[in-house]
Amino acid sequence: DSIPNNNHQTLTSVQSFMTRIIDRNPGENEFHQAVHEVAETIIPFIHNKPQYQKAKILERIAEPERVIIFRVPWMNDQGEVEINRGYRVQMNSAIGPYKGGLRFHPSVNLSTLKFLAFEQIFKNSLTQLPMGGGKGGSDFDPKGRSDREVMFFCQSFMTELFRHISSDNDVPAGDIGVGAREIGFLFGQYKRLKNEFTGVLTGKGASYGGSLIRPEATGYGVVYFVEQMLNQRRDSIKGKRVVISGSGNVAQYTLEKCIELGAKVVTLSDSSGYIYDEKGIDAEKFAYIMHLKNEARGRINAYADKFGCEFIPGKSPWEVPCDIALPNATQNELSVDDARLLIKNGCMCVAEGANMPCTPEAIEVFENNDILYAPGKAANAGGVAVSGLEMSQNSLRLSWSREEVDKKLQEIMFNIHSTCLRYGHKPDGRISYVQGANIGGFVRVADAMLAQGLV
Ligand code: GLU
Repeated sequence: DSIPNNNHQTLTSVQSFMTRIIDRNPGENEFHQAVHEVAETIIPFIHNKPQYQKAKILERIAEPERVIIFRVPWMNDQGEVEINRGYRVQMNSAIGPYKGGLRFHPSVNLSTLKFLAFEQIFKNSLTQLPMGGGKGGSDFDPKGRSDREVMFFCQSFMTELFRHISSDNDVPAGDIGVGAREIGFLFGQYKRLKNEFTGVLTGKGASYGGSLIRPEATGYGVVYFVEQMLNQRRDSIKGKRVVISGSGNVAQYTLEKCIELGAKVVTLSDSSGYIYDEKGIDAEKFAYIMHLKNEARGRINAYADKFGCEFIPGKSPWEVPCDIALPNATQNELSVDDARLLIKNGCMCVAEGANMPCTPEAIEVFENNDILYAPGKAANAGGVAVSGLEMSQNSLRLSWSREEVDKKLQEIMFNIHSTCLRYGHKPDGRISYVQGANIGGFVRVADAMLAQGLV
Protein backbone atom coordinates (compact mmCIF):
# COMPACT_ATOMS: atom_id res chain seq x y z
CA ASP A 1 0.00 0.00 0.00
CA SER A 2 2.90 2.40 -0.45
CA ILE A 3 2.19 5.69 -2.20
CA PRO A 4 4.26 7.86 -4.54
CA ASN A 5 6.67 10.50 -3.36
CA ASN A 6 5.40 14.02 -3.07
CA ASN A 7 6.29 14.64 -6.69
CA HIS A 8 5.71 17.89 -8.48
CA GLN A 9 2.25 16.95 -9.71
CA THR A 10 0.81 16.03 -6.33
CA LEU A 11 2.40 19.09 -4.69
CA THR A 12 0.65 21.33 -7.21
CA SER A 13 -2.65 19.51 -6.63
CA VAL A 14 -2.30 20.02 -2.86
CA GLN A 15 -1.65 23.71 -3.43
CA SER A 16 -4.62 24.27 -5.71
CA PHE A 17 -6.84 22.22 -3.39
CA MET A 18 -5.78 24.37 -0.45
CA THR A 19 -6.38 27.58 -2.41
CA ARG A 20 -9.99 26.46 -2.89
CA ILE A 21 -10.34 25.55 0.79
CA ILE A 22 -8.91 28.90 1.93
CA ASP A 23 -11.15 30.85 -0.50
CA ARG A 24 -14.25 29.06 0.76
CA ASN A 25 -13.33 29.40 4.44
CA PRO A 26 -11.56 32.75 4.84
CA GLY A 27 -9.70 33.39 8.09
CA GLU A 28 -10.24 29.89 9.50
CA ASN A 29 -6.58 29.18 10.15
CA GLU A 30 -6.90 26.13 12.40
CA PHE A 31 -9.30 24.57 9.92
CA HIS A 32 -6.89 25.23 7.04
CA GLN A 33 -4.07 23.68 9.06
CA ALA A 34 -6.02 20.48 9.77
CA VAL A 35 -7.22 20.11 6.17
CA HIS A 36 -3.74 20.77 4.78
CA GLU A 37 -2.18 18.05 6.91
CA VAL A 38 -4.73 15.55 5.59
CA ALA A 39 -4.57 16.78 1.98
CA GLU A 40 -0.78 16.31 1.93
CA THR A 41 -1.17 12.57 2.45
CA ILE A 42 -4.56 11.90 0.82
CA ILE A 43 -3.93 13.67 -2.50
CA PRO A 44 -0.85 11.52 -3.34
CA PHE A 45 -2.82 8.45 -2.20
CA ILE A 46 -5.79 9.11 -4.51
CA HIS A 47 -3.75 10.25 -7.50
CA ASN A 48 -4.30 6.87 -9.21
CA LYS A 49 -7.79 6.30 -7.80
CA PRO A 50 -10.13 8.16 -10.18
CA GLN A 51 -13.28 7.02 -8.37
CA TYR A 52 -12.39 9.21 -5.35
CA GLN A 53 -11.28 12.09 -7.55
CA LYS A 54 -14.36 12.13 -9.79
CA ALA A 55 -16.67 12.10 -6.79
CA LYS A 56 -14.62 14.94 -5.19
CA ILE A 57 -14.60 12.97 -1.95
CA LEU A 58 -11.89 14.97 -0.18
CA GLU A 59 -13.51 18.28 -1.11
CA ARG A 60 -16.86 17.03 0.15
CA ILE A 61 -15.32 15.78 3.41
CA ALA A 62 -13.92 19.29 3.98
CA GLU A 63 -17.39 20.87 3.73
CA PRO A 64 -19.56 20.41 6.85
CA GLU A 65 -22.90 18.73 6.21
CA ARG A 66 -24.49 21.26 8.54
CA VAL A 67 -23.41 23.99 10.98
CA ILE A 68 -25.68 25.27 13.74
CA ILE A 69 -24.86 28.55 15.49
CA PHE A 70 -27.06 29.85 18.26
CA ARG A 71 -27.45 32.39 21.04
CA VAL A 72 -26.97 31.21 24.63
CA PRO A 73 -28.38 33.76 27.08
CA TRP A 74 -28.10 33.08 30.81
CA MET A 75 -27.92 34.89 34.14
CA ASN A 76 -24.83 35.03 36.36
CA ASP A 77 -24.71 35.02 40.15
CA GLN A 78 -24.84 38.82 40.22
CA GLY A 79 -28.16 38.72 38.41
CA GLU A 80 -26.63 40.08 35.22
CA VAL A 81 -27.53 38.78 31.77
CA GLU A 82 -24.66 37.17 29.88
CA ILE A 83 -24.65 36.11 26.25
CA ASN A 84 -22.47 33.43 24.70
CA ARG A 85 -22.43 31.78 21.31
CA GLY A 86 -23.17 28.08 20.90
CA TYR A 87 -22.13 25.85 17.99
CA ARG A 88 -22.59 22.36 16.64
CA VAL A 89 -20.66 21.38 13.52
CA GLN A 90 -22.22 18.27 11.94
CA MET A 91 -19.32 17.43 9.71
CA ASN A 92 -19.84 13.97 8.26
CA SER A 93 -22.38 11.19 8.79
CA ALA A 94 -21.20 8.68 6.16
CA ILE A 95 -20.35 5.91 8.64
CA GLY A 96 -22.58 6.76 11.61
CA PRO A 97 -24.28 9.48 13.64
CA TYR A 98 -22.26 12.67 14.12
CA LYS A 99 -20.02 12.09 17.13
CA GLY A 100 -17.62 14.35 18.95
CA GLY A 101 -17.20 16.50 22.00
CA LEU A 102 -18.32 19.91 23.16
CA ARG A 103 -15.65 22.44 24.08
CA PHE A 104 -16.33 25.35 26.43
CA HIS A 105 -13.41 27.76 26.21
CA PRO A 106 -13.04 31.47 25.38
CA SER A 107 -10.93 30.58 22.31
CA VAL A 108 -13.80 28.63 20.71
CA ASN A 109 -14.88 29.91 17.30
CA LEU A 110 -16.05 28.37 14.05
CA SER A 111 -12.49 27.72 12.83
CA THR A 112 -11.53 25.78 15.96
CA LEU A 113 -14.67 23.69 15.88
CA LYS A 114 -14.40 22.94 12.17
CA PHE A 115 -10.82 21.75 12.58
CA LEU A 116 -11.87 19.57 15.51
CA ALA A 117 -14.92 18.20 13.66
CA PHE A 118 -12.78 17.50 10.59
CA GLU A 119 -10.17 15.60 12.63
CA GLN A 120 -12.96 13.73 14.37
CA ILE A 121 -14.12 12.17 11.06
CA PHE A 122 -10.81 10.36 10.62
CA LYS A 123 -10.33 9.56 14.29
CA ASN A 124 -13.78 8.02 14.61
CA SER A 125 -13.31 6.05 11.42
CA LEU A 126 -10.01 4.65 12.75
CA THR A 127 -11.80 3.15 15.76
CA GLN A 128 -13.81 0.97 13.31
CA LEU A 129 -16.98 1.86 15.24
CA PRO A 130 -20.01 3.37 13.48
CA MET A 131 -19.47 7.05 14.29
CA GLY A 132 -19.46 10.06 11.99
CA GLY A 133 -17.66 13.30 12.80
CA GLY A 134 -18.91 16.32 14.68
CA LYS A 135 -17.90 18.89 17.28
CA GLY A 136 -19.49 21.73 19.13
CA GLY A 137 -19.18 24.05 22.05
CA SER A 138 -19.18 27.64 23.12
CA ASP A 139 -16.93 30.59 23.90
CA PHE A 140 -18.23 30.33 27.49
CA ASP A 141 -15.40 30.19 30.04
CA PRO A 142 -16.28 27.91 32.98
CA LYS A 143 -13.13 28.99 34.84
CA GLY A 144 -14.02 30.81 38.05
CA ARG A 145 -17.76 30.22 37.59
CA SER A 146 -19.89 28.74 40.33
CA ASP A 147 -21.64 25.38 39.93
CA ARG A 148 -24.89 27.29 39.73
CA GLU A 149 -23.66 29.49 36.87
CA VAL A 150 -22.31 26.48 34.98
CA MET A 151 -25.65 24.74 35.41
CA PHE A 152 -27.64 27.71 34.13
CA PHE A 153 -25.32 28.03 31.18
CA CYS A 154 -25.57 24.30 30.33
CA GLN A 155 -29.36 24.39 30.59
CA SER A 156 -29.61 27.37 28.25
CA PHE A 157 -27.12 25.79 25.82
CA MET A 158 -29.13 22.56 25.69
CA THR A 159 -32.45 24.39 25.37
CA GLU A 160 -31.40 25.21 21.81
CA LEU A 161 -29.12 22.26 21.02
CA PHE A 162 -31.64 19.55 21.94
CA ARG A 163 -33.65 19.97 18.74
CA HIS A 164 -30.59 19.23 16.60
CA ILE A 165 -29.30 16.09 18.32
CA SER A 166 -30.49 12.59 19.23
CA SER A 167 -29.03 9.19 20.02
CA ASP A 168 -29.32 8.13 16.35
CA ASN A 169 -28.36 11.44 14.79
CA ASP A 170 -25.76 13.34 16.79
CA VAL A 171 -24.16 12.30 20.08
CA PRO A 172 -22.02 14.96 21.79
CA ALA A 173 -19.57 14.31 24.65
CA GLY A 174 -17.00 16.28 26.60
CA ASP A 175 -13.83 18.09 25.54
CA ILE A 176 -11.91 21.00 27.09
CA GLY A 177 -14.09 22.67 29.74
CA VAL A 178 -16.78 19.97 29.52
CA GLY A 179 -16.37 17.17 32.04
CA ALA A 180 -18.62 14.98 34.17
CA ARG A 181 -20.32 17.95 35.83
CA GLU A 182 -21.27 19.66 32.56
CA ILE A 183 -22.38 16.41 30.89
CA GLY A 184 -24.66 15.79 33.89
CA PHE A 185 -26.32 19.21 33.58
CA LEU A 186 -26.63 18.90 29.80
CA PHE A 187 -28.12 15.42 30.03
CA GLY A 188 -30.59 16.47 32.72
CA GLN A 189 -31.88 19.30 30.55
CA TYR A 190 -32.05 17.15 27.39
CA LYS A 191 -34.06 14.50 29.21
CA ARG A 192 -36.47 17.10 30.49
CA LEU A 193 -36.99 18.70 27.09
CA LYS A 194 -37.39 15.47 25.14
CA ASN A 195 -39.05 13.47 27.89
CA GLU A 196 -36.93 10.43 26.99
CA PHE A 197 -34.01 8.68 28.63
CA THR A 198 -31.64 7.96 25.75
CA GLY A 199 -27.93 7.65 25.13
CA VAL A 200 -27.75 11.09 23.50
CA LEU A 201 -24.58 12.19 25.30
CA THR A 202 -21.56 10.13 26.22
CA GLY A 203 -19.31 10.60 29.20
CA LYS A 204 -22.36 10.29 31.42
CA GLY A 205 -22.02 9.30 35.08
CA ALA A 206 -21.87 5.54 35.69
CA SER A 207 -25.17 5.66 37.61
CA TYR A 208 -27.14 7.03 34.65
CA GLY A 209 -25.90 5.20 31.59
CA GLY A 210 -22.22 6.13 31.44
CA SER A 211 -19.59 3.56 30.53
CA LEU A 212 -16.97 2.42 32.99
CA ILE A 213 -13.46 3.44 31.82
CA ARG A 214 -14.85 6.36 29.74
CA PRO A 215 -13.19 8.97 32.03
CA GLU A 216 -9.89 7.09 31.78
CA ALA A 217 -10.15 6.10 28.11
CA THR A 218 -8.37 8.92 26.28
CA GLY A 219 -5.36 8.92 28.59
CA TYR A 220 -5.11 5.14 28.87
CA GLY A 221 -5.45 4.87 25.10
CA VAL A 222 -2.58 7.30 24.52
CA VAL A 223 -0.29 5.16 26.67
CA TYR A 224 -1.45 1.90 25.02
CA PHE A 225 -0.62 3.49 21.68
CA VAL A 226 2.82 4.66 22.86
CA GLU A 227 3.52 1.14 24.10
CA GLN A 228 2.63 -0.23 20.65
CA MET A 229 4.96 2.24 18.94
CA LEU A 230 7.82 1.41 21.29
CA ASN A 231 7.23 -2.34 20.90
CA GLN A 232 7.83 -1.81 17.17
CA ARG A 233 11.36 -0.82 18.12
CA ARG A 234 11.66 -3.66 20.63
CA ASP A 235 11.38 -1.18 23.45
CA SER A 236 8.78 -0.32 26.10
CA ILE A 237 7.60 2.57 28.26
CA LYS A 238 8.93 1.00 31.47
CA GLY A 239 11.66 3.15 33.01
CA LYS A 240 11.19 5.98 30.48
CA ARG A 241 11.24 9.62 31.48
CA VAL A 242 8.00 11.28 30.39
CA VAL A 243 7.04 14.93 30.02
CA ILE A 244 3.30 15.66 29.96
CA SER A 245 1.62 19.00 29.29
CA GLY A 246 -1.87 19.75 30.54
CA SER A 247 -3.47 18.64 33.80
CA GLY A 248 -7.06 17.98 32.74
CA ASN A 249 -8.83 14.72 32.06
CA VAL A 250 -6.46 13.44 29.35
CA ALA A 251 -3.27 14.38 31.22
CA GLN A 252 -4.56 12.86 34.46
CA TYR A 253 -5.22 9.38 33.10
CA THR A 254 -2.18 9.43 30.86
CA LEU A 255 -0.20 10.03 34.03
CA GLU A 256 -1.97 7.26 35.92
CA LYS A 257 -1.29 4.67 33.20
CA CYS A 258 2.34 5.81 32.87
CA ILE A 259 2.82 5.29 36.61
CA GLU A 260 1.17 1.86 36.41
CA LEU A 261 3.49 0.79 33.57
CA GLY A 262 6.60 1.95 35.40
CA ALA A 263 7.44 5.19 33.58
CA LYS A 264 8.64 8.30 35.38
CA VAL A 265 6.48 11.38 34.72
CA VAL A 266 8.18 14.64 35.74
CA THR A 267 5.87 17.43 34.53
CA LEU A 268 2.26 18.60 34.23
CA SER A 269 1.04 22.05 33.25
CA ASP A 270 -1.84 24.47 32.86
CA SER A 271 -2.20 27.84 31.16
CA SER A 272 -0.19 29.52 33.95
CA GLY A 273 2.94 27.35 33.74
CA TYR A 274 4.32 23.89 34.53
CA ILE A 275 5.45 21.90 37.54
CA TYR A 276 8.71 19.98 37.40
CA ASP A 277 8.99 17.11 39.86
CA GLU A 278 12.44 15.56 39.47
CA LYS A 279 11.53 12.66 41.78
CA GLY A 280 8.63 11.70 39.53
CA ILE A 281 4.90 11.90 40.17
CA ASP A 282 3.84 8.76 42.05
CA ALA A 283 0.44 7.22 42.83
CA GLU A 284 0.00 9.22 46.01
CA LYS A 285 0.75 12.52 44.26
CA PHE A 286 -1.60 11.45 41.48
CA ALA A 287 -4.43 11.12 44.02
CA TYR A 288 -3.72 14.66 45.19
CA ILE A 289 -3.84 15.95 41.59
CA MET A 290 -7.20 14.28 41.04
CA HIS A 291 -8.58 16.03 44.10
CA LEU A 292 -6.95 19.37 43.26
CA LYS A 293 -8.18 19.52 39.68
CA ASN A 294 -11.55 17.77 39.82
CA GLU A 295 -12.97 18.63 43.24
CA ALA A 296 -11.14 21.75 44.36
CA ARG A 297 -10.92 23.02 40.73
CA GLY A 298 -7.52 24.48 41.62
CA ARG A 299 -4.42 25.39 39.60
CA ILE A 300 -1.41 23.15 39.10
CA ASN A 301 1.01 25.46 40.99
CA ALA A 302 -0.64 24.22 44.22
CA TYR A 303 1.14 20.90 43.52
CA ALA A 304 4.53 22.62 43.67
CA ASP A 305 3.64 24.23 47.00
CA LYS A 306 2.43 20.94 48.45
CA PHE A 307 5.31 18.70 47.35
CA GLY A 308 8.09 21.27 47.36
CA CYS A 309 9.03 21.03 43.70
CA GLU A 310 9.58 23.67 41.06
CA PHE A 311 6.81 25.66 39.36
CA ILE A 312 7.92 27.42 36.20
CA PRO A 313 5.40 30.18 35.43
CA GLY A 314 4.44 31.16 31.89
CA LYS A 315 6.31 28.32 30.17
CA SER A 316 5.63 24.94 28.56
CA PRO A 317 7.42 21.81 29.78
CA TRP A 318 9.17 21.04 26.44
CA GLU A 319 12.49 22.38 27.75
CA VAL A 320 12.68 19.50 30.24
CA PRO A 321 14.81 16.57 28.97
CA CYS A 322 12.79 13.39 28.42
CA ASP A 323 12.46 10.17 26.41
CA ILE A 324 8.77 10.66 25.66
CA ALA A 325 6.76 13.87 25.27
CA LEU A 326 2.97 13.78 25.52
CA PRO A 327 1.28 17.07 24.59
CA ASN A 328 -2.10 16.80 26.31
CA ALA A 329 -3.20 20.43 26.60
CA THR A 330 -4.45 22.13 23.43
CA GLN A 331 -3.87 22.97 19.75
CA ASN A 332 -0.54 24.39 18.57
CA GLU A 333 1.04 24.20 22.02
CA LEU A 334 4.28 22.64 20.72
CA SER A 335 6.26 24.77 18.26
CA VAL A 336 9.09 23.90 15.89
CA ASP A 337 11.61 25.31 18.39
CA ASP A 338 10.13 23.11 21.10
CA ALA A 339 10.43 20.13 18.75
CA ARG A 340 14.13 20.84 18.06
CA LEU A 341 14.85 21.27 21.76
CA LEU A 342 13.09 18.02 22.64
CA ILE A 343 15.16 16.12 20.06
CA LYS A 344 18.38 17.79 21.19
CA ASN A 345 17.60 16.65 24.75
CA GLY A 346 17.11 13.04 23.67
CA CYS A 347 13.36 12.70 23.13
CA MET A 348 12.52 9.72 20.90
CA CYS A 349 8.72 9.51 20.98
CA VAL A 350 5.90 12.05 20.84
CA ALA A 351 2.20 11.14 21.02
CA GLU A 352 -0.64 13.65 20.94
CA GLY A 353 -3.24 13.35 23.70
CA ALA A 354 -4.63 16.74 22.66
CA ASN A 355 -5.99 17.52 19.19
CA MET A 356 -3.40 19.09 16.86
CA PRO A 357 -1.04 20.21 19.67
CA CYS A 358 2.04 20.14 17.41
CA THR A 359 2.43 22.76 14.69
CA PRO A 360 2.98 21.49 11.10
CA GLU A 361 6.63 22.58 11.26
CA ALA A 362 7.15 20.69 14.53
CA ILE A 363 5.66 17.53 12.97
CA GLU A 364 7.98 17.87 9.99
CA VAL A 365 10.98 18.06 12.33
CA PHE A 366 9.84 14.94 14.21
CA GLU A 367 9.26 12.95 11.05
CA ASN A 368 12.53 14.04 9.43
CA ASN A 369 14.45 13.01 12.55
CA ASP A 370 12.87 9.57 12.74
CA ILE A 371 11.13 10.35 16.03
CA LEU A 372 8.19 8.05 16.76
CA TYR A 373 5.45 10.62 16.27
CA ALA A 374 1.72 9.80 16.64
CA PRO A 375 -0.93 12.32 15.59
CA GLY A 376 -3.92 12.88 17.90
CA LYS A 377 -6.41 11.28 15.55
CA ALA A 378 -4.67 7.96 16.17
CA ALA A 379 -3.15 8.35 19.64
CA ASN A 380 -6.11 9.95 21.43
CA ALA A 381 -8.89 7.97 19.70
CA GLY A 382 -9.42 5.85 22.84
CA GLY A 383 -11.74 8.49 24.31
CA VAL A 384 -14.20 8.54 21.46
CA ALA A 385 -13.80 4.77 21.07
CA VAL A 386 -15.14 4.19 24.56
CA SER A 387 -17.83 6.78 23.81
CA GLY A 388 -18.79 4.46 20.96
CA LEU A 389 -18.87 1.58 23.44
CA GLU A 390 -21.06 3.69 25.72
CA MET A 391 -23.49 4.16 22.80
CA SER A 392 -23.54 0.39 22.24
CA GLN A 393 -24.21 -0.30 25.92
CA ASN A 394 -27.01 2.29 25.98
CA SER A 395 -28.64 0.73 22.90
CA LEU A 396 -28.37 -2.71 24.46
CA ARG A 397 -29.58 -1.31 27.81
CA LEU A 398 -26.84 -3.02 29.75
CA SER A 399 -23.39 -2.18 31.04
CA TRP A 400 -20.08 -3.93 30.66
CA SER A 401 -17.50 -4.41 33.43
CA ARG A 402 -14.31 -2.36 33.70
CA GLU A 403 -12.33 -5.36 32.50
CA GLU A 404 -14.52 -5.84 29.44
CA VAL A 405 -14.34 -2.18 28.41
CA ASP A 406 -10.61 -1.93 29.07
CA LYS A 407 -9.99 -5.05 26.99
CA LYS A 408 -12.00 -3.63 24.09
CA LEU A 409 -10.15 -0.32 24.41
CA GLN A 410 -6.80 -2.11 24.22
CA GLU A 411 -7.91 -4.04 21.15
CA ILE A 412 -9.09 -0.86 19.44
CA MET A 413 -5.80 0.95 20.13
CA PHE A 414 -3.89 -2.10 18.89
CA ASN A 415 -5.94 -2.13 15.68
CA ILE A 416 -5.48 1.60 15.10
CA HIS A 417 -1.75 1.09 15.46
CA SER A 418 -1.84 -1.75 12.92
CA THR A 419 -3.86 0.41 10.52
CA CYS A 420 -1.21 3.14 10.82
CA LEU A 421 1.53 0.63 9.98
CA ARG A 422 -0.48 -0.77 7.07
CA TYR A 423 -1.02 2.62 5.37
CA GLY A 424 1.99 4.47 6.76
CA HIS A 425 4.80 3.12 4.55
CA LYS A 426 6.88 5.87 2.97
CA PRO A 427 8.72 5.19 -0.30
CA ASP A 428 12.00 5.19 1.69
CA GLY A 429 10.71 2.34 3.87
CA ARG A 430 10.03 4.45 6.94
CA ILE A 431 6.66 4.57 8.71
CA SER A 432 4.71 7.81 8.92
CA TYR A 433 1.94 7.56 11.50
CA VAL A 434 0.50 10.77 10.03
CA GLN A 435 0.13 9.20 6.62
CA GLY A 436 -1.10 5.90 8.09
CA ALA A 437 -3.76 7.53 10.28
CA ASN A 438 -5.01 9.84 7.54
CA ILE A 439 -5.28 7.17 4.85
CA GLY A 440 -6.59 4.52 7.24
CA GLY A 441 -9.31 6.90 8.44
CA PHE A 442 -10.08 8.22 4.96
CA VAL A 443 -10.65 4.94 3.11
CA ARG A 444 -13.58 3.79 5.22
CA VAL A 445 -15.38 7.14 5.03
CA ALA A 446 -14.64 7.60 1.33
CA ASP A 447 -15.96 4.16 0.40
CA ALA A 448 -19.13 4.76 2.42
CA MET A 449 -19.63 8.10 0.67
CA LEU A 450 -19.14 6.51 -2.76
CA ALA A 451 -21.67 3.82 -1.93
CA GLN A 452 -24.25 6.36 -0.78
CA GLY A 453 -24.21 8.44 -3.96
CA LEU A 454 -23.94 12.19 -4.29
CA VAL A 455 -25.13 13.33 -0.87
N1 GLU B 1 -13.49 15.23 22.77
C1 GLU B 1 -12.95 13.90 22.60
C2 GLU B 1 -12.15 13.86 21.31
O1 GLU B 1 -11.51 14.81 20.96
C3 GLU B 1 -13.98 12.81 22.74
C4 GLU B 1 -15.18 12.90 21.85
C5 GLU B 1 -16.27 11.89 22.18
O2 GLU B 1 -16.12 11.10 23.09
O3 GLU B 1 -17.28 11.92 21.47
O4 GLU B 1 -12.05 12.85 20.65
